[in-house]
Amino acid sequence: MAPKSTKLKEFKEDFWKSKDIKISIGEIDQDKVGEKADGAVKMGPTPKPHVTDLREWDMKLMERYEPFYAPFCDMCCLCTYGKCDLTAGKKGACGIDIKAQQARMVLLACCIGAAAHSAHARHLLEYLIEKRGEDFPIDLGMNIDIEAPIIRTLIGKAPKKLGELREAMDYMEEQNLHLLSACHTGQEGSNIDFESKALHAGLMDNLGKEIGDIAQIVALNFPKGDEDAPLVELGVGTVDREKPVVLCIGHNVSSGAGVIDYVEDEGLEDNVEVCGICCAAIDITRYNHHAKVIGPISKQLKFIRSGVADVIVVDEQCIRSDVLEEAKKNQCKVIATTDKMCLGLPNLTDEDADKIVAQLINNQIEGALILDPDKVGEVATKVAIQIADDRGMLK
Ligand code: SF4
Repeated sequence: MAPKSTKLKEFKEDFWKSKDIKISIGEIDQDKVGEKADGAVKMGPTPKPHVTDLREWDMKLMERYEPFYAPFCDMCCLCTYGKCDLTAGKKGACGIDIKAQQARMVLLACCIGAAAHSAHARHLLEYLIEKRGEDFPIDLGMNIDIEAPIIRTLIGKAPKKLGELREAMDYMEEQNLHLLSACHTGQEGSNIDFESKALHAGLMDNLGKEIGDIAQIVALNFPKGDEDAPLVELGVGTVDREKPVVLCIGHNVSSGAGVIDYVEDEGLEDNVEVCGICCAAIDITRYNHHAKVIGPISKQLKFIRSGVADVIVVDEQCIRSDVLEEAKKNQCKVIATTDKMCLGLPNLTDEDADKIVAQLINNQIEGALILDPDKVGEVATKVAIQIADDRGMLK
């Protein structure tokens, strides 16, 4: 396609107002982005780019959008040489200056975010492969043309089966490791290079999120670009406090799905409330529209303190670190379900479900770590049903 350029006199929308805009589109070689009959795409110049492969482009971006630093901390405490004072042009014992140190902290924060999302995606992917099999098809229905835009762009392949997502996952994990390594004392010394790596970490983060979401959409049969996807109830007031209530907090849908499966299998949909806070809430409602969304993390403490939840199931990310302490205040039981947050609770994954239930309702334990989503579903539901009446005054 030949280059094209167009001029807009005025662009006015609710969110944006501009005048005299010029848009230029360079040449597009349609062959290079075409898809072959077998689903493979023609390979671009940088498949699976390594940390430095897109560096030149990052440098161009930063020439135009120069990083600006407003340090939130003048000190560095990242190694045992320190802590070091980096104010007024001073350098750390390792030679780093405050600009590079700020950019290093940005990279570290990006690595933490990318690791959280991609570890979550890895958990989900392996769990769903175990449940549905490696050959489970990636079918996003008729409404989605490009099922995996980031994987296609970075890996140069269109994944057709759940097991094929592992290639992108392996690549991303390797990159995340290299990026985190660059934060070590006595390595990178340029703030611009730290920023370039932070951009790469952002790219890996998005790749991880795409893998996780594709896996859960296809394997758990979430709505697929469906314009008639059911609406769900939202807000604290939608929860019926007269019923046993299981609250899921976090991001990983597998344990929430375990609760919903158990409730459905036992025909308890009308007798037990399943609700969520944060992304787990959205995802359990994508799994089953009877689940309810309480709200975001900002509602967490308020809802826990309301005492409405009989059992709190926590998985990973955006869960208050003091959830167990707060839950204990109104005799609510906590079940931790991932390696990311074990809360000091006994690991009862291999224990019989009814024995765990008995220990929880007899107050022998304040909560349990259960790393099996199906067992989480059974234990959480049974405990909620058995303690809801006694907790009536606390709700
Ligand atoms: S990493 Fe460098 S600046 Fe930070 S504490 Fe260690 S020596 Fe000091």
